[in-house]
Amino acid sequence: MIKFIPLGGAGEIGANCYYLGIEGTGILLDCGMHPQKSGLDSLPNFDLIKDLPVDYVLISHAHMDHINSLPYLVQRHPYIKIITTPQTRAIAELTLHNSVSIFREQLGDHSYMKLYSHEEIDLLIQSIEYRSYEEVFELKGYNGLKIIKASFHGAGHILGSAGILIDTGEERLFYTGDIKLSSQSLIDKARLPKTKIDLLLLETTYGSTDTRAILSWSMEANTIISNGGSILIPVFSLGKHQEILATVWNLMQKGTLTETDIYTGGIGTKINTVYDYNRYNVNMLDKEFVLKNISQKNLYDITNYEEFFKSPSIVLASSGMMLESTASYNLAKHWLKNPRSAIFTVGYMEKNTPGYKIANASKGDQIRLSELSESEIVKCQIQCFRFPSHAFREDLIEIVNKLNPGKVILVHGDPLSIDWVGEHILKEFRHIKVFSAEAGKELIL
Ligand SMILES: [Zn+2]
Repeated sequence: MIKFIPLGGAGEIGANCYYLGIEGTGILLDCGMHPQKSGLDSLPNFDLIKDLPVDYVLISHAHMDHINSLPYLVQRHPYIKIITTPQTRAIAELTLHNSVSIFREQLGDHSYMKLYSHEEIDLLIQSIEYRSYEEVFELKGYNGLKIIKASFHGAGHILGSAGILIDTGEERLFYTGDIKLSSQSLIDKARLPKTKIDLLLLETTYGSTDTRAILSWSMEANTIISNGGSILIPVFSLGKHQEILATVWNLMQKGTLTETDIYTGGIGTKINTVYDYNRYNVNMLDKEFVLKNISQKNLYDITNYEEFFKSPSIVLASSGMMLESTASYNLAKHWLKNPRSAIFTVGYMEKNTPGYKIANASKGDQIRLSELSESEIVKCQIQCFRFPSHAFREDLIEIVNKLNPGKVILVHGDPLSIDWVGEHILKEFRHIKVFSAEAGKELIL
C-alpha cells in the first residue's frame, strides 16, 4: 500500500513535490519552487506532512520547479537524506548558489521567510548522496518496516535528468519527472525501465499542445539575418540554453543557418561547463562535442543594447518566460522597438508571464508586459517555435503503452493537458485507472 500526497505540482507546473508513504518510510519525489510565485506561496505545502515520517527526498532533475525548495525542506527536516544523480548534484551546486543572491534581492531583509546563506547551500550540496543511472539503491526510513529499492533512469530532458523507479517488493512505481522520448541536439532520449510498472506518475506538460504546431526555424532565422536583423531567443539557462546553442552552432556549421555573432552569458554559460565535463559519463549523442568551443560573446559585457543591432546577431538570454527584471525581459523591451529584428520563442510559456504575452502577440499589436510597465506597440517580428525538452502528447500515451501500469496519476500539467492525456489513456487502455493529482488530496494506492 502506498500513500500518495501531492504537496505541489498538481493541476499545474509549479512547486512539484509528491509524498509517498510506504510502510513507515516517507519519501518525497522532487522539491520544487513555483517560478511565478514568491514567498511562502512558491513553496510546496510542507504542512501536509508535518506529522508523517519524512526520511528521503529523491530529485528527478535540477530545474527550479523540481529542486529549489530543498533549502526550506532541510530547515524543517534537517535529517532528511537527499539523493540525486551526480550531474543533478553538480548543476544544483551552481543554481542553488545563484538563487541565494536572487532571493536576497527579491525578499529583502524583512522577509518572513528565513533567507539561506551560501554556507548553508555548501552544506546541503555536501550532504547530497548521488547515484548513477540504473544503479539500484536501498531506502529504509527510521520507522520503516521494510527495505525499498530505488533507481534513476535517464529521462532525456536535461543533463542528469532521471525518471525514478521505486520498488516496494510488492509494487513498482515509476515517476517520469520531466521526460523526453526522442533525442535532442545534445541529450539522448529517455531510457524507460524494462520492468512492469504498477503505478505511473506521469508528467503532462505538452498534453494540450498540438504536435503539428512544432516547426523548423532555420529558414525564418535566415530571412531576419539577411535583412540585417538580430534574433533574441529567450531560454531557460538549464537545458534549453545548451540545446539551442548546440543547434544554432550545428546549423551554422552545416551552412543551413547564416553565420552571425552568438551572444550568451550568465549562469547558462556556467552550466555549459557541467555539460562539457560530464559528456563522457551520461547519454550524450556526440561525446566529442564541447559547448565551450563554440565561439560566443558575453552578452553581459554589452552595456549599450544598440550594439546588438549594429550587425546581425543571435542572442540567447534567460529567463525562458522573460520574467520581469531578467536579461531576456530587459532585452525584449529593446527588441520590440526594432522592426528588422525578431524574438523567437522556443519553449513552454506559463499564462500571464511576459513571455506568454509576447509569444501570443504579432507585429502591430499593443501589449503591456507587466502591471507597472506602459503598453507598447510590437514592431519586431515574433515567431514561436518549439524545441521541446518534454514528451509530445502522443509520446505520453506511448509511455503508458510501454510501461502498461494498472494505475496512472497525472501530474505537472495544466488542467487542459491533464484532460487530454487522461481522456486518451481511458479511451485506449480500458483497464487502466487514471487519477489527476489534486494538491493536498491524499490517495491510497
Ligand atoms: Zn524540467
